[in-house]
Amino acid sequence: MPATPAWPPDSLPRLFVDSELADDREIVVDSAQANYLVRVLRLKAGAQIKLFDDRTGEWLAGLAHIGKRDAIVRVEGKLRDREEVPNLWLVFAPIKKGRIDWLVEKSCELGIRRLLPVRTQRTVIAKVKPDKLRAHLIEAAEQCERTALPELADITPLAAVLADWPEDRTLFYAAERGGGSFRKALVAHDGPAAILIGPEGGFTEEEDAAIRALPQAAPVSLGPRILRADTAAVAAASLWMAGRGDWN
Ligand code: SAM
Repeated sequence: MPATPAWPPDSLPRLFVDSELADDREIVVDSAQANYLVRVLRLKAGAQIKLFDDRTGEWLAGLAHIGKRDAIVRVEGKLRDREEVPNLWLVFAPIKKGRIDWLVEKSCELGIRRLLPVRTQRTVIAKVKPDKLRAHLIEAAEQCERTALPELADITPLAAVLADWPEDRTLFYAAERGGGSFRKALVAHDGPAAILIGPEGGFTEEEDAAIRALPQAAPVSLGPRILRADTAAVAAASLWMAGRGDWN
């Protein structure tokens, strides 16, 4: 007897809507989403999709009305609550356009809870485009089936981040020189955590000293080779997720 296929099928399209979802609620999806559902996926009225709102969780919805430039979906029932993602922040010096988009996308997939861009002395990218990065986070969350969007903080000078560092949060400082065993640091430090990744040019000696002076800092090595900043971020987040996150 073939197994009864799961309902709703995992393959249903999944969209983020920035308004609170509830049973029977009608939501007008924006023109880009309407275009995606109707013209790209060629869905007809009555077709079902999944919605999440980063507030209440994930819901099943039906395509109730297709307009010239928009569409209305009606919520049909709750599928699951908003998840509690692991308590890990990524503190990173912004990197060039294409790479930063990739970095935030991967951070979302890996389960990072909060992204905090920091301005350091060797940061070449002074500004980040929060709207662009948020769009990448939403797309990644739609794809990787997250129900909680990562928080994206405003870019902040490193000195201010260190001065205001939460007492209970370990800062795993990715130090390409003079970093200790990540595995041992994971054993030694449970609870809320953050990973710090420097700019392509690295931290200055002064910054390195200031980071190491932070009582919550745990300098860690990611091996003998110098990794690009985006590689280092993904490697460090993966190690933490496997050791302390929701991968085990
Ligand atoms: N220009 C720097 C240098 O040569 O010292 C390299 C900076 S690296 C491209 C960017 C950031 O990735 C570093 O600041 C560090 O946070 C992290 N990183 C790269 N390789 C690492 C390693 N092997 N161990 C720990 N962190 C590393």
